Parts: sequence; structure tokens; C-alpha cells
Amino acid sequence: MVARSADASAAPGAAITPTPAATRRRAPIPPSTTLSGLEKPTLDQREYRRVVLPNGLEAMLISDVHADRAGAALDVNIGYFQDPEDYPGLAHFLEHLLFLGTAKFPKENEYSAYLQDHSGWSNAYTDSENTNYHFEVDAPAFEGAIDRFAQFFIAPLFDPSCTDRELKAVDSEHKKNLQADAWRLQQVDAELAAPEHPYHKFGTGSSETLKDRVSEDGQTVIPTRDRVMAFYKEYYSANLMRVALVGPQSLDTLESWLTTYFSPIPNQNLALPSYVGQPFDARHVGRVVYAVPIRDEPYLSLTWQFDDQRPHYGKAGLQYLGDLLGQETKGSLLSLLKAKSYAHELFAGADDSGRGFAFFNIQIGLTRRGAHHWVAVLAHAFQWIRMIQSHGVLRWYWDECRDLADMSFRFSEAGAPGDYAVTVSNHMHLYAPNHVLSGSTLFREYDADHLGALLQHLTFDQCRVLLVSQSLCDEAPPPPPPGWKILPWGYACQYQAQPCPPELRASIAMLKAHPDLHLPPPNPFIPNVPDEQGVPNPKLPQPTRPALVKETPLYRLWHLTDQQFAVPKSVIHLYVRNPRVYGSVHMAAAHLMWIAALRDALNETTYQASLASVEVHIDASLEGTVIVLSGYTEILPTVFARIWAAMWAKPFTAPSHRWDAVKRHLIRNLRNTRYKSAQSFAVYSCLLAIQSALYMWNDKAAALEGITQSDVERLVHTSREQLSMEVLITGNMTAAASEALIADALAQIRGPDTARPAPLPTSIRYALSRNHLIPTQRDWIYPLVLPNEDDVNSAIEWYVQLSPGLTAKDRLAVQLFDQITNEACFDVLRTQQQLGYLVHSGVRRHVGLIGFYVLIQSDRAPTDLHDRIEAFIAGTPARIRALSPQAFRKHRESLAATLTTRERNLAEEHARVWSAIYMGTWNFSVSHDDAAAL
Ligand SMILES: [Zn+2]
Repeated sequence: MVARSADASAAPGAAITPTPAATRRRAPIPPSTTLSGLEKPTLDQREYRRVVLPNGLEAMLISDVHADRAGAALDVNIGYFQDPEDYPGLAHFLEHLLFLGTAKFPKENEYSAYLQDHSGWSNAYTDSENTNYHFEVDAPAFEGAIDRFAQFFIAPLFDPSCTDRELKAVDSEHKKNLQADAWRLQQVDAELAAPEHPYHKFGTGSSETLKDRVSEDGQTVIPTRDRVMAFYKEYYSANLMRVALVGPQSLDTLESWLTTYFSPIPNQNLALPSYVGQPFDARHVGRVVYAVPIRDEPYLSLTWQFDDQRPHYGKAGLQYLGDLLGQETKGSLLSLLKAKSYAHELFAGADDSGRGFAFFNIQIGLTRRGAHHWVAVLAHAFQWIRMIQSHGVLRWYWDECRDLADMSFRFSEAGAPGDYAVTVSNHMHLYAPNHVLSGSTLFREYDADHLGALLQHLTFDQCRVLLVSQSLCDEAPPPPPPGWKILPWGYACQYQAQPCPPELRASIAMLKAHPDLHLPPPNPFIPNVPDEQGVPNPKLPQPTRPALVKETPLYRLWHLTDQQFAVPKSVIHLYVRNPRVYGSVHMAAAHLMWIAALRDALNETTYQASLASVEVHIDASLEGTVIVLSGYTEILPTVFARIWAAMWAKPFTAPSHRWDAVKRHLIRNLRNTRYKSAQSFAVYSCLLAIQSALYMWNDKAAALEGITQSDVERLVHTSREQLSMEVLITGNMTAAASEALIADALAQIRGPDTARPAPLPTSIRYALSRNHLIPTQRDWIYPLVLPNEDDVNSAIEWYVQLSPGLTAKDRLAVQLFDQITNEACFDVLRTQQQLGYLVHSGVRRHVGLIGFYVLIQSDRAPTDLHDRIEAFIAGTPARIRALSPQAFRKHRESLAATLTTRERNLAEEHARVWSAIYMGTWNFSVSHDDAAAL
């Protein structure tokens, strides 16, 4: 897990006129480097240019002539590892403050208001060695956004009033993490690291760690703001920054903007900070660490520390180890642990890394029984590792990984420009210029000695063992000795590190090979896709419409041949409808159990398919079962056939040794809902109030206790007897192949009586669950006490439902209201009033209904939050009336641009088409129609 905090901001604001070109500083354009040999995905038609400015700042310019959105990111190679020891969280605090006004644009919400006016958003995060700032905006507003953005790194104001207020946001952000196990357990790791290494630091900060200090004589206040500014001056040097600009403008235009706006960033020619030693030295390995989580989710984690692997990225050593040790096929560690009901899941792969170190981790998600027998689990893990070590480095397996990675890179599709800029700016620190796009994916150099050395390093003596379990305190063997420690910074996690018991070391040393553990078979899902698959045609008009290829009482088949993206992939989406699955909480529980057992039974297939970039989702929904497969068209039918066969297997029986484990896991996950954040509960509870036929997590958990195998068998039987399916297939699978696929599927479940399966009755065939209308004329308040008493946060979702029977005009009015209100909401309720870190507003859609919500998580009482939201909303009419006609027009244009944003990949196209089918509107161009009506 990478420790990073993302700081979303979004806001509205007054209309800002872009700076006239005449007032901009022009610097001479330096020579740029056209990248020869840049490795690009096959379908990537964007143009790239690498530029190094005279101040040492390196940039990647990316021109995508068909894009209607643009994005930028700046990644500075300084993170919380550089925090002063006495100011934990300072780098993160600085990240928050940079957004709030610059000498050129002093208004504190200038940047977010400008972005909001042009359908944009921004964010930032602070990692151990990096801080990344980024935004996305409508393409015509790109230059104005770049101007405002670059000023953060030239002349930020650090206004004292903002500084005091923003400290509350950082503190609220930290409070959000207090009950989150990922944050707590990462801090346990940090706490146990060598105190000489910055890995031990606490990177988020809080109002306590970042408060103003008083001199020893008590006479002088030392403002933290001074420390922030000193930190900024010390470390924010252009030569440590990497910038990515992604937009439809030409490379020359992007380069001139880069030169104009980023050249003034001061350069101090800093060397990258270096550290002495590694996070964990001889004192820290060979120990067993115990920690108690908030959620009932025990796991065992084994971690090894390596030298920095980033200089060797082309050898892909840790990726190779991760793919191999993380196998889930028969003969794997996971397969063995599942057979013994010790584990549910296993992840293996590279973990945190930094200059001078890299971690490799195997994490095993345990059952209660597995937590109790963790020593046996540990022993099996080392039997698995040693079996793999005994075979040496497997050339054929490395080649297989290389081929799959190669294909994954060749056919990767474009995403949002803001996200792309983040990745590129960050990767520029790590990879050679022509490998910036491919460095994290491709396996390029087989080095048996290097791989062998990594593999042989996975010994028990070099391992850090971490056992995380709620039941540690009373029943885990061996009983933990007294001496529990309490994690500081308010996390209050109980943990301790003990020397490894000698008898455990001895028993691991004596292990014999396990007969059930063996190497994985070759992956059967490797497609053979030729390079000349087609050429993307981004000029095709959007939005596209699917054809209704076939309609029978049993199914509707929609099909859309994609011609825009030319990717050799498809998406198969089936909604096998049977609304009776939600007829009672008992039925709903049996349905959940069916799907969970099915996923469990299919795991080895879906794991191998996932290595070949095929994603599989099987979910229990309110009106039936949803199956979605996406990936290479060539292999999808094979994967689908296996899923379909397992789904309707007669009789449907999970192996008895798996039934209990799957059921306990499902119940445990439902019960863990109690530890969800206050914000999640607010959203969930509001949904409960609106949507009919929703069963609560605790009711489903209770009902599951009584579910038997025969309950599930009955459900499968009735689902097979009578069903109707809504099917959408998009991509490059032909309509004929799609028809054949569905016809085969139906033939497979046809009973001896050819009338089976029978279609669902017409009235419920495609019916959707209904929603409640909230009675007007009064407020309805649904108070709820958080089930997790230790959570210091509260939350509120304030929701206004619009009357049903919405016309396009109503629909537009609420979206425009949101467009105008959004930034003001963030600015007033978060930046000015500092109610909490999480402040959102937006449009919420339900089937047939639309509404507007404000959502806040805070350490204040919800009644106070309610009053403040009402006060804010009461000011909205005046705020709208005060808009100049020009500002109003700008909002309208911004919304129109959002509604007509071009789709960038097959998944986005598919999602739009499916939404219109699922909602039953069959309006595939609703956004474009709305934009036209604006
Ligand atoms: Zn933050």
C-alpha cells in the first residue's frame, strides 16, 4: 500500500477572464527533444515531445488532436520523507496550502473556481518521496488553467488566514483515517522501522503535529506557516519537478505554454535527498509482529526488503515473483489454504519502495480458523516458496509474463487526460525517456542471475511476519506476551513485535515438501492478436447507438460494433433477470450465497483470465444476476462458457469443505459494514430511505446464518426454469458471433422439456425496483447512531428530490444548479467554514428520479452541519441572481461541454449504452440531447 493522501477540491466561483496574451512573459523557446524510439501502445495516436527547460524542469508534452479535454500534472520528487522530525505532516500541509492563492491570482479559490467554470477538477497527493499536483479541464480553457497552476510553484501566498483554516482540513483528513485499518497498519510498520530512516515518519499530520510552537521562554510564537514556507523554499526546485501536459493543442503550442508559464520556477539544482541504510535492518527482521485491526479481517503478511529495484525495471524481477507466488491455480499456496479452510485470498507483489529499498510482500487473507492456525499457514507459505526456489528461475514462465505484459501494453486504451498526466509525470522520475509509457509494464530483459538472487532472498530469516487479527488478545497461539504497545498519532492500534520463538524457527527449518504444491500450468488464455487489428477512427460521430439484434420473450440482444477505438476487445454484459431473488431477505441471502460460491468455484479460471487482461464481474443485483466480461474478443467466449456452465451446474453444490468457509466469509464481510465511515453510512441510509426493497446489511447477515445448500439449489433451479435476459455486447465481436454465443448459452440450460426455460411474465420481465417519493411540505430527518462507537466522525447527507415526471428542462435545471453551486459549496463549507475534509455536492440519480445532495463528514454534530447546509442553500437564490449574464452563460457552456465530452475508450462507450438499456429509457444520446436543449 502506498501511503498517499488525495486531496480533492472542486469549486465554483466568479467568472475569471484569462490573462490577456500581451501581459504574459515570453521566454525564448529552448531546443526540445523529439523522442525517437518512444514506446507507445499500438493504438495510441497521440504525439509526444520531451522538453527540458533551462531551469532544469523536464516535461512531456502530449498532443491528442481529437481530445476535447486537457489535463496537466506536476510531480515534485519531494514527499513526507523530508518532513522535519518535529513537524510530522509538513510536506502534506504544504500540498494543501499551495492551492490557496498566488501573487498573480491572490483569491484563495481562484484556481478551483476557474476549473469549475470550465468543467474541470483538481487534486493532489503527498507520497513518501513525491508530491503530485494535477487538474483536468475543457480543452479551450487549458492555457488559463496552466497559468494559474504554474503560479503555485512560482509565487504562492501562504496567506495566514488560509493557513489556520486549512490546518483543520488536514486534521479532519487524519480523523477520517483513524478507523481505517490500511492507514493504521501502515503506521505500525513505520513505527517499527529504524528511527534513523525516514520510513518511520507519520506523513499525514494533524492539528497537534502542525500547530504553532512557542519558544522555550514562552514569549514568542513560532508559526508553522514559517516552517511551511522554509520547506517550500528549501525543496521545491525546478530540477526536481516533472510536468506532463495533455491536450488537443499542437506540440508547438504546448511547448510555448510550457516555456511561458513554467520557466520562472526557481531552480536550485538540488540533488535528490538520500538516506542512510534501509528502513529495516538486522534488528527488525526475524521478528513476529502482532496487531489488532478495527475490522474483523485477519491476515498474515510476509515482507522482504530488497535493494532498490527501480534501476532494474526492465528485468521485471518483483513482477515475476509476484505473478508466480501469487498464483491461484490448482497446486498453488492459495489453493491448498482454501482446501484447508485457512484462507480466502492471497496477494503477492512489490509493495512500498523508495530510493535504496523495495519491499516484496505476500499477504494472505485468513479465515477465523486460519487465524487460529497461523503457524500452519506460515509453514505452508514457506513450503510453497521453497518448492518454487527448488525449480530455479522458470524461463517459460517469465516468457509468458512478458508476452501477456506486452499484449496488455500494446492494446491499452486512452483514459482521462488528468489521470494520464499524473502517471506520466510520476513515471518520468523513474524510467528512461523512451520508456516513460512502458517502463512499469514491460518485461524487457531476462536476467537469470538477477531473478535467481531475488528468489533466493525469500528466506524465513529475512522475513518480517505480521499477524493481524482481532482475536489475538485471547486465543491466538502462541499467546502474545504482555507488553502491547499503543500506536501514537491517535490511531490507538494495539501492536507488538516479538523475537521469533526458537521453536517456530526450528519447525520452519525442518519443513518437508508438501505433495499438493506444484508449479502452475501454462496459462490457457493467451490470445493471439495480430498487430494490424484496425485503426482507431476518432472522427466517427458520437454518441453511437446499439442495434437491437434480436428480441424474444427469453432475451433481448443488443449489439454495437465499435469502430472508434479499433481495439481487439469486447464487453459481454448479461443481466439474467429474476426479480424474485429479492422477494424476501431469505431469498436475497440465498442469492448472495449462490454468487459467492460461484465466484469461489470459478476462482482459478477467473484468476488466469485476469492475467490475460480479461476482467470478470459476477454480482447479485436487485432484479437478478449480472455477469460482465471484458477483454480480448478471441478468448472471451471460452471464459464465458466456463462461467455459464458453472453457474447452472446441476446440482449446484459448493464442495462441502468450501461451503462453510464461503458463508462465514460472506457474513463476516457484511458484519464489517459496521466499521464503514460515517460518510458511507450517510449515503447508505439516504438510499435506504429512497429505494424500496433494500435489505440492510445486518438483516442479510442474520438471514445468511440459516441458508443451506438446498436453499441455493432451489434458487438455481427456479432461476433456470424461468428467466429473461437483457444482453449487450460491444466491441469487435460480430453480431453473428454474439447471437451464436447467446443461443448456445440458452441451449445449454434447456431442460428435457423444450419449453424450459420459460420467460418471466411480461409484467415483471424487465421491471426495475421502485423508488419512494419523499412527501413534500416538510423535512424528513433520519437520525442514525454509528455502529462503530470509536469513530469520532459524524456525517450528513442532505438530499432534495425533484418531483417525478421530469421533463428534459427539469433535468437540465438541476444539473445547472449543481454546476453553479458546486464550487461555492466547497469554498464556503470546507475552505471557509472548515466543517470537514470531505465536503461534496452533486446530482444523485435513481431510476426515474433525480435529486441534489450535499454530503459532509465532520467531527461536528450533524445538527450543526444541517443548519449550516440550510444556511448555505438559503443563500443560493441570491448567488444565482448575482451572476452576470456572461457568468451564467459560462456555466451553461461548461455544463454543455461536460455533457458532450467524447468517450475515450470502449469501457466508457459500453457504460453509456448499458445505462440507457438498464434504465429502460433506450435514449442513447440523452446527454447530447440535453446539451442541445441547453
Ligand atoms: Zn490532504
